[in-house]
Amino acid sequence: MSKLAIDGGAPVRTAGFSQWPIYDELELQMLKEVLESGKWGGSGGTKAGYEAKLPKMEREFAKLQDSAYAVSVVNGTVAITVALQAAGVRSGDEVIIPPYTFIATATAALAYGAIPVFADIEPDTLLIDPEKVEALITPKTKAIIAVHIAGAPANMTRLGEIARKHGLALIEDAAQAVGAKWEGRGVGSIGDLGTFSLQSSKNLNAGEGGIITTNQAHLWENAWSICNVGRIPNGEWYQHEKLGQNYRLSEFQAAIVLAQMTRLEEQMTLREQNAARLDSLLGSIDGVRLMKQDPRITRHAYHLYMFKLEPSVTERVQKAEVIRRLQAEGIPVAAGYVPLNRNVAVLDAVEAWTGKRTQQDCPVCEAVCEKEALWLTQNVLLSDVQAMDDVAEAVRKVLSSL
Ligand SMILES: *Cc1c(COP(=O)(O)O)cnc(C)c1O
Repeated sequence: MSKLAIDGGAPVRTAGFSQWPIYDELELQMLKEVLESGKWGGSGGTKAGYEAKLPKMEREFAKLQDSAYAVSVVNGTVAITVALQAAGVRSGDEVIIPPYTFIATATAALAYGAIPVFADIEPDTLLIDPEKVEALITPKTKAIIAVHIAGAPANMTRLGEIARKHGLALIEDAAQAVGAKWEGRGVGSIGDLGTFSLQSSKNLNAGEGGIITTNQAHLWENAWSICNVGRIPNGEWYQHEKLGQNYRLSEFQAAIVLAQMTRLEEQMTLREQNAARLDSLLGSIDGVRLMKQDPRITRHAYHLYMFKLEPSVTERVQKAEVIRRLQAEGIPVAAGYVPLNRNVAVLDAVEAWTGKRTQQDCPVCEAVCEKEALWLTQNVLLSDVQAMDDVAEAVRKVLSSL
């Protein structure tokens, strides 16, 4: 057994992983087109012959996700707020969300006084457990947000049944899941509305940005209006019929997205190939448990590669120690989220809006966060085959040392 890097041995990998972001002459050319057009924003004049990039990007993005409509917006957090508001969720209403997600899923609701209620996750997928949702529904519940964590679609079939039965809006937080499909349908087109992020760590990167998708004309109109200071589509400039804000994206960001989209399919294929290789290599290592994948996931976006440590490991050693050893071997493994149901900022905000301190237990999520889940960040999956072999080799070396 070779000596661990933390004990002064040679690290398994010194070569690093794929660069990120990835761009070439195409981004430069498209940014130049925007500069020279004089049309830098979502509103304002257009030079003759210039095709505005924001509407083009929205059309292409909607098509990519099998949606009839898309509205671009400043970021993925605001996209969730707007989707909730477009669906009619108001201050004081309750929104059921998973506790294993980026904090924005909760803060997007809390920003205007909608109250997150946490439905625990499935231990083998780390996605919202539909069977935990129904017991949490009260007369105040107005929406469910399914979060497609790591790029794996949540169980939209079951969540759809529950939402319909109780008359709730179903929103997909697909920030990590561009390109993913559930039963052959693009995520963001299955619930009432879907939201995406174009933030720099996401698979489709514009630095910052977000997109809302829907198949329902009235929800598109609502969302568009909220993002455009309450204007109505094809209305007059100073005709404001709803309360809205300016949440528009710029043409520069649309240019970057259009350029990045030309590489998305190729990158998705690479992520899938590398994830399959990691599954087969890590799956044979004692102490590792792979994520279970529902066969109805017809495409996984692999924003992150997640795996879990088995009780045989977690009973003997802290997750932080495993991470420390893997990082020393040159593997950029991360601990991932903390449970949102215990996050003090969320608890304080709920108390500020409701006057009540509530504490929900989500034992599956808490164990996953504290002891079990490890993440490989998204650029790892864009690396070469040798990089996957090195990840597996490092995991084998570290776990067998414990
Ligand atoms: C990134 C992310 C968001 C927020 O998107 P931003 O563009 O960073 O505001 C929301 N939900 C999830 C699950 C995310 O991963």
